Amino acid sequence: MKIKYDFLVVGTGLYGAICAYELNKKGYRCLVIDKRNHIAGNIYTKNEDGINVHVYGAHIFHTSNRAVWEYINQFSDFNNYINSPVARYKNELYNLPFNMNTFSKLWNDVFTPDEAKNRIEEEKAAYHIDEPKNLEEQAINLVGPTIYEKLIKGYTAKQWGRPCTELPAFIIKRLPVRFIYDNNYFNDRYQGIPIGGYTKIIGKMLEGIEVRLNYDFFEHKEELLKEAKEVIYTGPIDQFFDYKYGPLEYRSVRFETETLNMPNYQGNAVVNYTEYEVPYTRIIEHKHFEFDSTSPKTIISREYSSTWKVGDEPYYPVNNDRNNSLCEKYKEEADKLTNVHFGGRLGQYKYYDMDKVIEKALEFVSTLGN
Ligand code: UDP
Repeated sequence: MKIKYDFLVVGTGLYGAICAYELNKKGYRCLVIDKRNHIAGNIYTKNEDGINVHVYGAHIFHTSNRAVWEYINQFSDFNNYINSPVARYKNELYNLPFNMNTFSKLWNDVFTPDEAKNRIEEEKAAYHIDEPKNLEEQAINLVGPTIYEKLIKGYTAKQWGRPCTELPAFIIKRLPVRFIYDNNYFNDRYQGIPIGGYTKIIGKMLEGIEVRLNYDFFEHKEELLKEAKEVIYTGPIDQFFDYKYGPLEYRSVRFETETLNMPNYQGNAVVNYTEYEVPYTRIIEHKHFEFDSTSPKTIISREYSSTWKVGDEPYYPVNNDRNNSLCEKYKEEADKLTNVHFGGRLGQYKYYDMDKVIEKALEFVSTLGN
């Protein structure tokens, strides 16, 4: 079989699609494959009843990188959605991220930033944590034990399948703590949801490029490797090497999606259920990511976090020491393969947000010259 493609791109998610788009623009011949029956990987959105459903979990675009923001805006306009999740703990509702609205609701004698700070300091003084060794200690150091107990402990244990004492502190660093009345979940300068959904963006990137769906890399590996000079692989790095050092650990998510005959179920796109006893972590009401839905119905997804096993959909890499050093072994193997490039959340085994994925993809393509 003779070489037909300069690049084979495995996976039509954000990383793969950007690489394909940029390479195609530079005149490289690309073939893009995906094992699923649709493009867009986990940012796939599907229009149902006039609502863009985030089929593989909610994706809210946010970045502080202006170049990345301008880049993604070439493919779609974005609305002005600001993520402001609400947390439900038993029969109490709190604003997230942790901010003055949360503090003043939690403590009815707290009205000012100083009062909130003092209350947190007072609470955490009893714990004497200088250098947090795990997520529990990090959380207590950051916001004190009451917020930890009500808003972090149960949610995190559900999401990661283990107690906070066995989790790395960095996970919680994603969450801002603010002493102002501001419910914006992200600190980033730019934020929004693409009008018309994410699938449209990926569709535009892949325009004019050969795409094969329902096409599994591993089933066709031999012939594919003969047809393409180089490979950009965005699947799980451990799977590429047939799990030879053992599988890396991921968290998977199961979505229970329901269409309800009512226009508005929970009044917000995201409601987190932070107590351990409620089996799901959050409920997403998809229409609230957009502002123009006139649908008399609404679609909600309950998210159940689950232990991943070979064959399940991997969502979150579990970046603890054990997995990171196992991943290093795979990366050493990967480095030996000069014509295979690993990218994206699964290819790099990193908890990347979408903006980081764009940065990484553009960085990679720029190393190839013109
Ligand atoms: N988290 C929490 N309580 C919440 C929301 C988040 O304790 O109500 C913690 C939890 O440890 C989670 C981390 O913050 O793993 C990051 O949450 P984020 O919402 O950023 O995760 P993603 O949206 O990527 O699933």
